[in-house]
Amino acid sequence: MDPAALDAELAELRHAAQHTAAHYETIPDLAWPAGVRVAVNFTLDFDAMLLRRLKNEPPMQLAKGEFGGRVGIWRAVELFSRLGVKATIFTVGRICELYPDALRHVLEQGHEIADHMWEHHVPKDPAMEDDHFMKTIAAFRDTLNHRCVGSRSRHSNRLLAREGYLYNSHGSAAHGPHYTHDGAGNAVLNLPFHYAIDDAMFYSANWQGSELMANRFSDTDRVEEIWWQGFLQQYRAGGYLNVCLHPFVSGRAQRIDMLERLVHRMQAMPGVWLPTCADVARHVTTTRPPLAGR
Ligand SMILES: [Zn+2]
Repeated sequence: MDPAALDAELAELRHAAQHTAAHYETIPDLAWPAGVRVAVNFTLDFDAMLLRRLKNEPPMQLAKGEFGGRVGIWRAVELFSRLGVKATIFTVGRICELYPDALRHVLEQGHEIADHMWEHHVPKDPAMEDDHFMKTIAAFRDTLNHRCVGSRSRHSNRLLAREGYLYNSHGSAAHGPHYTHDGAGNAVLNLPFHYAIDDAMFYSANWQGSELMANRFSDTDRVEEIWWQGFLQQYRAGGYLNVCLHPFVSGRAQRIDMLERLVHRMQAMPGVWLPTCADVARHVTTTRPPLAGR
């Protein structure tokens, strides 16, 4: 590479690093409630067919999404309810039209429903973004009499803060809860996840177009061991883990069985907290609010 091009690239990277430093606020002094050593959020992205439609996948792939709405979500809710885990279901707004009974069941069982965009994408135009965000709020209100306090999306802090949302759960900028600031006075807590603890990475033929053979149809023992090691590391560190699942992926019988084994192993350790994302967000934002002035 010629030196001028390298200089330009480094300048760009410096700019990105400065932007990150100005907009992200880590919380090194975060303390969990008494007796808690690690917080683990089990999160399910309830995309059903909507994500697959967005990706223009062929009809058979769409049917795989449908499995999540007809079977996967029910199996996951049964499992987490039986084990005493409070899960967070990030739900695409239009799922209200497709699977309202499943969503009512999620709430009846004491789990959380949070925003996952209107049609699984955030429009770039701010007015359109606003429209999508408010349509999702209206759908949850009219179908479930429910108001979300969290999102998994690229929705702007401006909208999330304006509508009183407590948190977002998007991206991997840090390994634990942290704040994002938009430079206009809107700070939102982020509860990050990572593709290494995401079922779709391990159980899909070519998730996100990946051609890596390692990403294809892993056996459940392998996934359990990788996630268990991830949990143990955060357990030792007194940290946080967000396990990202999809009903159409993890709703398959042997994968549900693996999750049961994994939760049992976690619950055998002292000080493991398995609440909703909203519970974690309430704890963090009340005990350690964002620093002002960004
Ligand atoms: Zn999704």
